[in-house]
Amino acid sequence: MSNKIQAVKGMNDLLPGKVELWHQVEQVLREAAWSYGYQEIRTPILEKTELFKQSIGDQTDIVEKEMYVFEDASDTSLALRPEATAATVRAGNQHGLFHNQQQRLWYMGPMFRRERPQKGRYRQFHQFGIEAFGWTGPDIDAEVIRVGARIWKNLGVENIRLKLNTLGSPEARERYRHALHQYFSNCRDQLDSDSLRRLERNPLRILDSKVESTVALVEAAPSILEYLDEDSKRSFESLCESLTQSGISIDVDNRLVRGLDYYTSTVFEWVTDQLGAQSAVCAGGRYDQLVEHRGGRATPAVGFAMGVERLVELIAVEQKSSTDEFLDAYVISLCGQQHAVDITERLRDAGIRACEHCGGGKLKSQMKKADQSGASFAVIVGEDEVATQSVQLKILRGEGGQEQIKREQLVEVLVSRLP
Ligand code: ATP
Ligand code: MG
Repeated sequence: MSNKIQAVKGMNDLLPGKVELWHQVEQVLREAAWSYGYQEIRTPILEKTELFKQSIGDQTDIVEKEMYVFEDASDTSLALRPEATAATVRAGNQHGLFHNQQQRLWYMGPMFRRERPQKGRYRQFHQFGIEAFGWTGPDIDAEVIRVGARIWKNLGVENIRLKLNTLGSPEARERYRHALHQYFSNCRDQLDSDSLRRLERNPLRILDSKVESTVALVEAAPSILEYLDEDSKRSFESLCESLTQSGISIDVDNRLVRGLDYYTSTVFEWVTDQLGAQSAVCAGGRYDQLVEHRGGRATPAVGFAMGVERLVELIAVEQKSSTDEFLDAYVISLCGQQHAVDITERLRDAGIRACEHCGGGKLKSQMKKADQSGASFAVIVGEDEVATQSVQLKILRGEGGQEQIKREQLVEVLVSRLP
C-alpha cells in the first residue's frame, strides 16, 4: 500500500508562483533595515531550551505550551526557536557585542510554535525583526517604530495602525502587578484556567488572554496609567510627540502588555483589520533588563518582530503580484546542442535569465514549451543558424515577430530590448 507522506501540520510549502512575492517583500525588509544602519545577524535555529524559558518567561503561552522541545543524543534539552530576540541577546553576550558598544541589528528567518494552525497562524512561520542595543530612548524607540512605518510605505500597505503603551519602570510595573492581582483575585471564579494559574505569579499575562470571558474582565481592570512614574510618563509623552511629528498616528492602548515577559516601558503593535482574527502584523517594545538577566552588562534595548506570512497575505489582498517575467529567454536547439549551450551561457554571463530546452523534440513542441515558460524571447538555433553563426530571435509577447541576427550581436540586442 502506498503511503503518501504529507507535510507536518501547520508547516507550509512555499511553491513557485507564491515565492516571488516573498522575494519582493524580503527585499523591502532588508533594504529598510539597511537604510537605517541596521546590520544582519544570523543565529542557529536550535538553542538550549533554558534560554527561552529564562528569557521569554515560564508562564507565557510560548514556553508553557508552544515550544518544540526535545532531548538530543547527549540528553541536552534543545528547542526550535519560537522567536529570535532571546538568541540575539545570547549571541551578543557571547561575542561581546554589547561591551561599550551600541548595536543596531536585524534578522529574518523561520520560527516555530506549536499553536492551533489557522489562517495567519502556523507552526513554522517567519519573522523579520530589528533590535537596537545600548540606547535608553525614547528617540531610538521612535526610530524603531519609524522603521516599521517605512516598511508599510515602501510596500504600499495602507490599512495598518499603531497601538502603543508603556509598562513604566520596573517599580511601576510591580505596583501595577499588585493592583491587577487584587482586581483579578476578586473575580477569581470567572477567570479561565490559564489566567487563574497566572494570577499569583504573573497577573499581567491575564491582560493578554484571548479567552472571551476573560477579555471582558480585562476591559474593566485597572489601567497602568494610574501607576506610572514621572520619568516613564515624560518619556512616553516625548515618544508620542516624536511619532506624531513624523506623521504616524497613534492609538494609545493601556491594556497592551504583549505576550512575552521581558518587556519594560514602551510596548507596541501594528494591527490591521484586513486579516481577520490574526490582526497583529508586527509587535515589539523595550526590554532593558534582558541582556543583564542573561549574564551580560546592563544594556538597554528595544526592537520588534514582524510576521512575514501575515505581511505577505496583507500585500496579496491589497495588490496582485505578477508571477511571469521571471525568465528573459528560452533557447531552442534543433541541431548542435553544444551551440545552444554556449549561447545560453553567454546570455547568463550578461545577466540575462535564460533557460535551455532539454529533452529534444520538434520545433513545434519546443516552441510550445517556450510559450509556457513565460520568457519574453525565444532564441532558435537550427541547422542554418549553426552554419551561418546566427540565431532566430522570436518575440513571444505582445505583437510578436521574428528576425535572424548574428550570434555575436545577440546579447546586445536582448539587453536593449529587455525592460
Ligand atoms: P499573537 O498575539 O498573534 O499570537 P504574538 O504576540 O504571539 O502574536 P509575537 O511573539 O510578538 O506575537 O510575534 C510577532 C509577530 O509574529 C506577530 O505580530 C505575528 O505577526 C507573527 N506571529 C506570531 N506567531 C505567529 C504564528 N504562529 N504564525 C504566523 N505568524 C505569527
Ligand atoms: Mg502568540
